[in-house]
Amino acid sequence: MLTPRELIEEASRRLADAGVENIREAVYIFEHVFGKRHFDPSLVITEEKTALFRKLIGERCEGEPYQYITGRAPFLDMDLNVGPGVLIPRPETEVLAEKAAEIIKTNGFSRALDLCSGTGCIAIAVSRLAPSCRLTCIEKSEDAFKYLLMNCREYASGTECLNEDLFSYLPRHQEEFDIITCNPPYLTGREMDELQKEVRREPREALFGGEDGLDFYRNMKPLIEKALKKGGFIAFEGGDGQLESIRDIYFENSSFEGEISCDQFGMKRFFIGKKQKTVQSDS
Ligand code: GLN
Repeated sequence: MLTPRELIEEASRRLADAGVENIREAVYIFEHVFGKRHFDPSLVITEEKTALFRKLIGERCEGEPYQYITGRAPFLDMDLNVGPGVLIPRPETEVLAEKAAEIIKTNGFSRALDLCSGTGCIAIAVSRLAPSCRLTCIEKSEDAFKYLLMNCREYASGTECLNEDLFSYLPRHQEEFDIITCNPPYLTGREMDELQKEVRREPREALFGGEDGLDFYRNMKPLIEKALKKGGFIAFEGGDGQLESIRDIYFENSSFEGEISCDQFGMKRFFIGKKQKTVQSDS
């Protein structure tokens, strides 16, 4: 029987040969299979678990994201539940969640809405960082919704979760929310053709935002404007090269003022806007 170190070395070589950048994923998968830290002296190596470990390393080499294999993805101080059917939270989205929580605390806001929630990463982080604010999460995909519920149960039990299309939910709400956060699907047709093999395992409906990637921002605007209170905020994530276009959509008719900001890698990534005027209802 191999030692933990030997097993991890063997797996790391296989990952490196398959072009996996972070060979530390061998350790994450090892600890997932064996249920203990790899240096834990009480760890027992069985043939069964060794075979399972090697099989899962094979799946990783084929392109399965390690987060789908271990069932967990780190996000701020949490390990969120993930699996096939839900977008894996990205580190840049942590910055959006922190910005949204800051806005809520600074303005004493009490009512927030998170659209296209996926795992719930933004909403859950916000509700932990700004606990006096009541949050609602909207997620259309049934597969993703299962993870949203699991994560809310584990990390933010007071959060309301609705398995609904935002385009049917929003029209029912008039000037109700102080802040609306959203990391919608925003990849362009071209980006979808060039996805990394790992990202191709993630749900297309969580990634593709129409040919220019901007469909959601455009289509949500009139609904968001009505659902948001005057002086309320939007906090959106967007893709490479899209932020000016997103800002222009929301600046149109002076509906919003606001600014673009960068993620931790120095890329323009967020648009934070403030609603300027009361929107007349046509109903
Ligand atoms: N940031 C994700 C990626 O680069 C895309 C997420 C999204 O479309 N909201 O794959």
